[in-house]
Amino acid sequence: MATRQRVELSSEQIAAFKSIFQDRCVTTESVLDEHGRDESAFPPVMPSAVIYAKSTEEVSQVMKMCYEQSIPVVPFGAGTSLEGHVLPIFGGISLDISMMNKILEITSEDLLVRVQGGVHRVALNEKLANSGLFFSVDPGADATLGGMASTGASGTTTVKYGSMRENVLAMTVVLSDGTVINTGRPTRKLSAGYDLTRLIIGSEGTLGIITELTLRVFGIPEKMSAAVVRFESLEDGVKAAATIVQMGTNIARCEFLDIASVESVNKHSNLNLSPKPTLFFEFHGSQVSVENDAQIVKEIVSEFNGFEFEWTSDESSRRRLWQARHDLYWSNLHNNPGKRVVSTDMAVPLSRLAEAVDTCEKILSESRFKFCIFGHVADGNFHCTIITDPKFPEELQEIRVLTHTMTSAIIAMNGTCTGEHGIGLGKIDALVEEAGQSSVDTMIKIKNVLDPKNILNPGKVLKV
Ligand SMILES: Cc1cc2nc3c(=O)[nH]c(=O)nc-3n(C[C@H](O)[C@H](O)[C@H](O)COP(=O)(O)OP(=O)(O)OC[C@H]3O[C@@H](n4cnc5c(N)ncnc54)[C@H](O)[C@@H]3O)c2cc1C
Repeated sequence: MATRQRVELSSEQIAAFKSIFQDRCVTTESVLDEHGRDESAFPPVMPSAVIYAKSTEEVSQVMKMCYEQSIPVVPFGAGTSLEGHVLPIFGGISLDISMMNKILEITSEDLLVRVQGGVHRVALNEKLANSGLFFSVDPGADATLGGMASTGASGTTTVKYGSMRENVLAMTVVLSDGTVINTGRPTRKLSAGYDLTRLIIGSEGTLGIITELTLRVFGIPEKMSAAVVRFESLEDGVKAAATIVQMGTNIARCEFLDIASVESVNKHSNLNLSPKPTLFFEFHGSQVSVENDAQIVKEIVSEFNGFEFEWTSDESSRRRLWQARHDLYWSNLHNNPGKRVVSTDMAVPLSRLAEAVDTCEKILSESRFKFCIFGHVADGNFHCTIITDPKFPEELQEIRVLTHTMTSAIIAMNGTCTGEHGIGLGKIDALVEEAGQSSVDTMIKIKNVLDPKNILNPGKVLKV
């Protein structure tokens, strides 16, 4: 990776793109800067140009030109990823998909929607609501569907409805040489050939550019209710969450917040939650079923010394509570002005969850950094956010060592170095540790076949 040269586009190359894409080929400083950073704390790296594509044909045209001239291309959705995914570290073009924002078809009777890759998840849900439907995958940021598929995203409702891997049925993808392929079918079952859909999901723009997706959607539940419960210890809270899942309880969301997380949302969202390790729940169903599910959860948490169990079916209280949870990352930023947040995620089998959270808590407590632990514990998935001061860039190296120590411990527990954020730039070594060299070599072979010139988001996921 280190030997590869950065590609700067010549003025002739930029002129050639401008002659086709006109004012949608941009080289102004502010736009380059916007496309040279994501939500990670990695220092920005600018592309030579940003091209805004409007159709699959245009994406294919860009790729044909870049393939011929070996120009790196980094697909760009909303830029909310957290591991340096969109940084054009080898220069070239940032290919922005955000103008491909059409919802092409809603087929209520099939519970399916077909969208372009640049549609944002919030806009999709606003549109689906008119048909009594919703798309369930909800990362904390308003990401694009193409970006979400590309990172294998999940969110707070994955425990009930699944992640992008379960909810993308078919895609249109442009390969590195401009070839357009269709993967999957709009069917609930499919057993025809290699599963190219799931090969592209999680490939982080290194194998192809997703221009269209067919997604599963769900009917908006008749009733949603929420509950909160506190624990004296982090371990009790996490064990309670694992037990709730092991017993097959019908929960739609189950999120854990440590004390620092609760204090952060209290301050940011003007709430008054008890500063204790806390579980937030949501239940979806009928009035009777949500009451019943909440009662089962109440009984289970009491066995783990849960206290102050509060339940609400009031819509505005439920929304306020969950908005606070979704704002947790932003509360970390706002409560620490001028600082950056490094957000890492890991996942383990449920039986190791308490041990995993405890291990990471100990590692971080021994460091000099402020941190929070929270996450989608019902999936065995949790996040650690670590506050860093950009005035001291050397802190990032120290934090990298810390996250590596944590991921190594998690991998040793049969876990994964990332349940949802992906590998990007930040976890390339951890992937080798987790998957093993022969699996990574197999990934490299696949990469070499689909992207023989290594122009699609080079330097991410794999060291090639
Ligand atoms: C506050 C906050 C909370 C978050 N919470 C979660 C969470 O709960 N769960 C979760 O999974 N993630 C979470 N994330 C991370 C982020 O939102 C996801 O990774 C999201 O899927 C990225 O989508 P995006 O549109 O922003 O993609 P980008 O950041 O633009 O790109 C991400 C990667 O996908 C590639 N890419 C983008 N578009 C395409 C395309 N059309 N075709 C091919 N490749 C493409 C890019 O090259 C890059 O490698 C969070 C981020 C923030 C800031």
